[in-house]
Amino acid sequence: TTPRAAVAKLLLLEDDPAIARTVIYALERDGFTVQHCLLLGDARRALKARSFDLLMLDVGLPDGSGLDLCREVRAQHPTPILMLSARNEEIDRVLGLELGADDYVSKPFSPRELVARVKALLRRSAMAPAPASRATGGFEVDLAGQRILLHGVPLALTRREVRLLGALLRSPGRIHSREQLLEAAWGDDSDSTDRTVDTHIKTLRAKLRQVDPAREYIVTHRGMGYSLELHPI
Ligand code: CA
Repeated sequence: TTPRAAVAKLLLLEDDPAIARTVIYALERDGFTVQHCLLLGDARRALKARSFDLLMLDVGLPDGSGLDLCREVRAQHPTPILMLSARNEEIDRVLGLELGADDYVSKPFSPRELVARVKALLRRSAMAPAPASRATGGFEVDLAGQRILLHGVPLALTRREVRLLGALLRSPGRIHSREQLLEAAWGDDSDSTDRTVDTHIKTLRAKLRQVDPAREYIVTHRGMGYSLELHPI
């Protein structure tokens, strides 16, 4: 299972070329592929173009804050995020973790320490056997491709079903009312009703069962709505 981790693709957002060089050198020596962006805007474009196994985000950038990108990514994707920031920026550290960053290193950091943190995060998010996270119970959201995979198998979902399942996946275990799910998947399309949600949940369940017949992922809470239950993988 370790060979997978060796080809992990990482995104580095860092405007200091010297720091970036050191980080890239250390990571590439360890077999990682690193795409480097100097600006927030470049990183946003890179994230739209492809998916990454882990993101390393500097906080202070010429065109904004890496914390903003952290929040944007976390709102829709479980990719591990490691924040990089200047020494003693306690507020950044707290904010970063509140916004969903998985770990944090303060500058100056040794390349060896960074590589160790990266490896720990990748292990934690369970690179093997597919780049699906243990924390997400075998689900993998491929934002760029607008796909969701279960145990490495792409689910045959419509655009709406992707949004519906995506909404449930963002907070596993939480009960989502039909109204909330309508909002998430249909926006303000007034033709849709609670029945629309029920119908799509039914289809979604059938599609999940095609990949994993043994388990029930979507739980009905009578009179309240639906939740997504994650199973250990
Ligand atoms: Ca910076």
